[in-house]
Amino acid sequence: MTTEQRSELRERMRQEIEVLETNIARLEDGLSPVAPDVAIGRLSRLDTMLNQGINQSSLSQSRTRLVRLQHALKRINDPDFGECIECGEAIPIARLLALPECQMCVECAE
Ligand SMILES: [Zn+2]
Repeated sequence: MTTEQRSELRERMRQEIEVLETNIARLEDGLSPVAPDVAIGRLSRLDTMLNQGINQSSLSQSRTRLVRLQHALKRINDPDFGECIECGEAIPIARLLALPECQMCVECAE
């Protein structure tokens, strides 16, 4: 990996982290509990609960991804960064740019 590629990748990770942090904050705002006496029908209350379920799962996915990205960003200067943890081959830069937190090459990931 060249120095330019590394800094491009670092920039990419920072952007992704920023987007994720914004999304997580938004999801958390949307997760306020449904007030029991709100004048909404039974069905719309069910809708709200359903939506909250969806928010809850994308929230936990976003959090997991955020932790992985932060971890990858910390390791980006390590000599073995960008190597597949399974086979030790260098992960192609295109894959890393598309999925900066990945730790395996395409073959091993499958
Ligand atoms: Zn591999």
